[in-house]
Amino acid sequence: MTFKDFHLDPGLDEAMFYLGFEKPTAVQQQVIPAISQGDDLIACAQTGTGKTAAFVLPVLNKLANGLPSKTNTLIVVPTRELAIQIEQQIQGLSYFLSVSSIAVYGGGDGKAWEREKAAFKSGVHIIVATPGKLLSHLNMGYMDLTGLEHLILDEADRMLDMGFIDDIKRIITHLPEKRQTLMFSATMAPDIRKLARTVLTNPKEVNLAIAKPASGIDQKVCLVNESQKAEAIGRLLSERKDYKTILIFTSTKSKVNQIIHALKSFRIASRGISSDLPQDKREEVLRQFAARQVNILVATDVLSRGIDVKDINMVINFDIPNDAEDYVHRVGRTARVDAKGEAITFITPRDRRKFYLIEKLIETRIPRLELPSDLGPFPSWEQPESQDKDRHGGRRPSYNDRQRKKRPGRGRRNDNPSGQRRSQGRPPSRG
Ligand code: ADP
Ligand code: MG
Repeated sequence: MTFKDFHLDPGLDEAMFYLGFEKPTAVQQQVIPAISQGDDLIACAQTGTGKTAAFVLPVLNKLANGLPSKTNTLIVVPTRELAIQIEQQIQGLSYFLSVSSIAVYGGGDGKAWEREKAAFKSGVHIIVATPGKLLSHLNMGYMDLTGLEHLILDEADRMLDMGFIDDIKRIITHLPEKRQTLMFSATMAPDIRKLARTVLTNPKEVNLAIAKPASGIDQKVCLVNESQKAEAIGRLLSERKDYKTILIFTSTKSKVNQIIHALKSFRIASRGISSDLPQDKREEVLRQFAARQVNILVATDVLSRGIDVKDINMVINFDIPNDAEDYVHRVGRTARVDAKGEAITFITPRDRRKFYLIEKLIETRIPRLELPSDLGPFPSWEQPESQDKDRHGGRRPSYNDRQRKKRPGRGRRNDNPSGQRRSQGRPPSRG
């Protein structure tokens, strides 16, 4: 099957050529026809399988057949990084169309607010928004969503995890009842099904959600004491000098800086992003990482889904993710679509039970990695938990790590002062 089989607008075919999209992914093959037929839909597929284009392409194709004067599509997403990423993908795919779009997310200043308001009033075609900021605008009463035809909830599982369920329900009260609603998720957990039952009407279901990392990922696990992690990573990285992009994940914000400092003592330069960093700085670091100016990025889970950098050579889990499903999301940052990548997870003896849950979820035994013995002695897989030396020695996550509700932040990247985009701006990037 090729994209030609969908008979999309030639402008979309051309944009895909420039973006290097040669053939539709499995989820795109199933989702694009279903959306084009106008059905409600719930689609589950693992991270990195091309869900964004699966919903963006049919929406753009409809808009290519006649541009409406009012807002046509609302895409609700859990994080600002994802909002930006999806809006960029819309920009790329709609390069040869006159579709307008805007990413709307919290943390902006008064100028951002005015820009967003102006875009809404002019009937911007596609809005990609995080729930809180969108609701703030909706409550002001100036948004006209009477022409809305598509509501898309992306990463619905993440939105539920982050507690956005009530916000989503409130948003829906502002939308026309007659609309097409699409839900995307990496998993089909029971609460996702429940949400689907309340917001979708006779939905088609596409389920490719085997929670398994893509087959191109070479996964390994390493059992160490907490105090041995930094040196072990130092060694692994020194053996992989040719790697240009390495992502290191940690569960807590406070550890991001600890890891950067520890790596520095092994003469390894890295940068970090966590929700503590102002928005403009985060974007700058992500840009540098994408441009290979920064080779090693240390990040928290909250941001893991927003990182869409191609050809990540290696993902290192500095500590075990709290949820087995986060493991899939983290390692899914490497080997996106058909590429190869390496993923190494560090666990301490007390993480073993959590780790077995991951192996159970992905139905795979992850090979054990032996580290050079001069870095040891390492704990043994057979050692009972009660003898875990590190039990009280490791640093506990700080309680300051709880997400601050309100943080100072700057507006969106300001290369677009009107806040609204007509897609004639710049060519889509290739590759
Ligand atoms: P998901 O939302 O399923 O995690 P994304 O939509 O973010 O995945 O897509 C992952 C990556 O794959 C993106 O970089 C995207 O540009 C790329 N991609 C999507 N569809 C295709 C395709 N048909 N061919 C090649 N690359 C694709
Ligand atoms: Mg996605």
